[in-house]
This record gives sequence, structure tokens and C-alpha cells, in this order.
Amino acid sequence: MSHDVPSFQGELMRPGDEGYPASRRIWNGAIDRHPALVARCLDEQDASAALKYALSRKLPLSVRGGGHNVSGSALAEGGVVIDFSALRGVIVDPDSMSVRVQPGALWGEVDDATQKHGLAVPGGIVTHTGVAGLTLGGGFGWLSRRWGLTSDNLLSVRMLLADGSRVQASEQENPDLFWAVRGGGGNFGIVTEFRFQTHRLGTHVLAGPILFRADQAREVLAFYREFIAGAPDELSVYLTLRTAPPLDWVPEHLRGTEVLLVIPFFVGDPREGEDLLRPLRGFGPPAADLVRHKPYMEHQAMFDAGVPHHWGYYWKSHYLPPLTHDAVEVLLERSWAKGSPASYTLLFHLGGAIASRPEDSSAASGRDAAHAMNINAAWPAGGPSHPDIGWCRQYFAAMEPHATGGVYVNFLHNDEGEARIRAAYGSRYDRLSQIKAMYDPDNVFQSNQNIKPSPAEQT
Ligand SMILES: Cc1cc2nc3c(=O)[nH]c(=O)nc-3n(C[C@H](O)[C@H](O)[C@H](O)COP(=O)(O)OP(=O)(O)OC[C@H]3O[C@@H](n4cnc5c(N)ncnc54)[C@H](O)[C@@H]3O)c2cc1C
Repeated sequence: MSHDVPSFQGELMRPGDEGYPASRRIWNGAIDRHPALVARCLDEQDASAALKYALSRKLPLSVRGGGHNVSGSALAEGGVVIDFSALRGVIVDPDSMSVRVQPGALWGEVDDATQKHGLAVPGGIVTHTGVAGLTLGGGFGWLSRRWGLTSDNLLSVRMLLADGSRVQASEQENPDLFWAVRGGGGNFGIVTEFRFQTHRLGTHVLAGPILFRADQAREVLAFYREFIAGAPDELSVYLTLRTAPPLDWVPEHLRGTEVLLVIPFFVGDPREGEDLLRPLRGFGPPAADLVRHKPYMEHQAMFDAGVPHHWGYYWKSHYLPPLTHDAVEVLLERSWAKGSPASYTLLFHLGGAIASRPEDSSAASGRDAAHAMNINAAWPAGGPSHPDIGWCRQYFAAMEPHATGGVYVNFLHNDEGEARIRAAYGSRYDRLSQIKAMYDPDNVFQSNQNIKPSPAEQT
């Protein structure tokens, strides 16, 4: 292929090219950006060539992992996209219990490779989410109360820096950079390989949703608050407040009705889990109890179909302390007052191993929170606007007095402003901006929740 990106071996797509329309589509169908060039890399050398090209033309730059960030940061308007969607290798080393992951891999691919050995890395709760963006923002999922944030399980990264150099970062090598990339997002360079430690999960877990009718929610949530207060790290219990979707696993008589899903997930001896969950499963009684001992991978994929590619999405998010009575009242008042049946509220259950590391052990946030709350406006038709965006914003404001003031950087949208980015990092922001000044002083990597470079003051 003849082109003007020296030594690039992969595929280059520009407006007018056959592959271009598909190459600028990402998970969020509300984002409509037109990059000047999508550079689908075949290796690290390609990423380096595309980076040099963008710098030489002074073009904006973005990096695409799984393409799931709701803000659309994977696509630089009018710029160069370093697209890793063709680089999806996952190599497990069972002897060292570690796994090497290429930057375009999705969580389902990591689960698939690690589960062949009964191993797992704490990843996200939807299999089609990218490993790269999730890990760099911190990352949490079903296994995090047991084994920490995704980024807590990172052993090392290979990176391409703004000046073109290639480095490794780990606790031993470039430790400041390693501290920053575990939570600081794509601000510091391009990660070309992740290496994680894995854990012996086995292949099965005790998990699944318990469905309650919305009119049971006040009592159930009061019970839930007490129930999780004493939960061991082996147990996570997430909440979803939504319209029951028309998915296979939802009992037919409940589809289209307003429900509260209480979703326990237990790692360990299933008999212990059964004992632990008995009061929760007996409460109500529930409209349906779908908790079972089942393959971990089946549970991981269970919620995929509820958030398909190319629908329109708009999110707002808070970290929450343990739920109070007043916070529950906001959930009850707002969750079902939406227009689109696809819109929903999700509460991740944090704490456990996430909270057991010191607040400043990495750049990642959320160690002081009991929950991450995601208010998700979703509309199947796609396109940029929907009335539920207003629902989402008002709901977010109503919840603000009951939130910690912090936010998970990976759940920020593109309209939130610098104060919210600072809120995501709290006291870690100043150190991050000093590290940014060392590794990316010209802010080449700014298609992200941007940390401004600010050199440390000389004393
Ligand atoms: C359906 C869905 C479910 C989700 N579930 C969870 C969950 O369970 N837990 C959780 O923690 N988060 C979750 N998230 C949020 C998720 O962590 C972010 O959307 C994350 O950014 C996705 O990563 P990605 O690689 O797919 O994103 P992309 O959009 O490809 O990338 C996002 C940003 O990450 C940076 N980046 C990506 N790749 C690289 C790289 N190789 N080098 C340097 N920077 C890079 C860039 O700044 C890029 O703009 C979910 C998101 C969605 C849409």
C-alpha cells in the first residue's frame, strides 16, 4: 500500500475510504467524530510510526483500545487515531500465574484465555469492554472486593512515550510512571502491552440476579444496607434499578416491568456462599431468584446484551458512601422516572480488597467509597440526543448531597470540566500533573480526562 506514514504496515483509513465509516464507530452511538486518519496498528512499530506522523503534522491524537469509553475519547476529531483493534493477543503463563495482554484485547478474551487454566484477573462486568482503557482508569468488577482493582493486579506495562522512546514501567522500573498509569488513564503514553497477575478462581462461582418488583424496593434496599455492612471480601452484591429487559434470562412475565436487581457474586466454597446468601434470597419473597453455581464466564457475559454497541448512551456517576435512608429515597424517586426502558441505574459494590490498599498506593480512585453509582441514559436508536439525558443530569444532582464528592474517571463524560477531573483524583492530582510534566510536557496525550502538565516547583 502506498501512503505517507513511513514504515506503517497496518491499515490506514481516511474519509472516503471503504473501511473509514466502520473505523470511526465506537460503542457509544451518540458520538459522531471524524478523524483525519485511523491507523490500525499491527504492532508497536506501527504505533510508533503513527505517533511520529501525528506529531510531525501537529495533528490531534487519540488511542483506541476497546472503544468503550462513553466520552468518545478513542476518537480525535480531525486527528490521528492509533487504533489497536487488530492487536488482541492474550498469553497466559500458568507457571508464573501471569498474563500478557495486547492493547486491543477485550475482557471476554482475557477471561477466555485465563479460565482455560482456572485463573482470572479482576476485570469489568461486560465482556466487550476494552482491557486498556479500563485498566488505565483503575478498573473494578465482580472480583475486585476479593482481589482488588484491575490496576492493582498490573505487574508491568510496555509503553511508547511522547518523545518516541520505549520504556517498561513496573514497581522496579520507572516506578513514578507505573504509579501514574494505574488510574491516571492514557495521559502518560501509549501502552503496548499489559502484564497482570492472575488468581486461582476455578471455573465456577455462585452468582446471579435476584429480581424484586419496584414496589418491594424500599424494604429490600433497607435490608440490603444492613446485609452488605457485614459482607466478607468474597461476596459482592451489586444493584440495578431498571425496566426488566427482553433478554433470555429474564422471566417472561417480568419483561418490561420496573424491577430492582440485587446481584450477589460469591468467590469460594459454594456451600458457604449458599449459607451466606440465604437471608437475602429469602427476603421479600423475590419475584425471581436466578442465583446459581455456574461458570464464571457465563456470569461475565450475562449483562452484555443489555448494553449493545451503537445505541446512544449518556452517563453520569458518583462514588457513594454506605447508602443512607435519604440516599435510598433518591434512588426510589428517580430510578424509574425515565423515558427509555433501556436507561438504568447501576450500583457497583466496592470496599473489600480495594479499600485495603493505601489511598495513595496508585493514582486510582474509589478506595474510600462503598459504591460507584452509574446513572445510564440509553436509547436504542442512537444519535446524540434523548430526553433521558435530562433525567440523568437531574438524578445526578439529586444524588450529589449523598455522594462522596469523588468520581471514577472512566465514568466521566466529555462535558464535565476540569473540576470533575480533579475530583476524580483528589489529593493525587498534583503528583499526577508533575509526572505528566516529566513524561508528556507538551500534552500530546490529551484525548482523555486530561491531567495538565505542571512541573514540580524547584526549591
Ligand atoms: C458497557 C460498559 C461496561 C463497563 N463496565 C465497566 C466495569 O465493569 N468496570 C470498570 O471499571 N469500567 C467499566 N466500564 C468503563 C470502562 O472502564 C471505560 O469505558 C474504559 O475507558 C474502556 O476501555 P476501552 O479500552 O474499551 O476504551 P477506549 O474508548 O478504547 O479508550 C478510552 C481511553 O483510554 C485510553 N487508552 C486506551 N487504550 C490505550 C492504550 N493502549 N494506551 C494508552 N491509553 C489508552 C485513551 O485515553 C482512550 O481515549 C464500562 C464501560 C462500558 C461501555
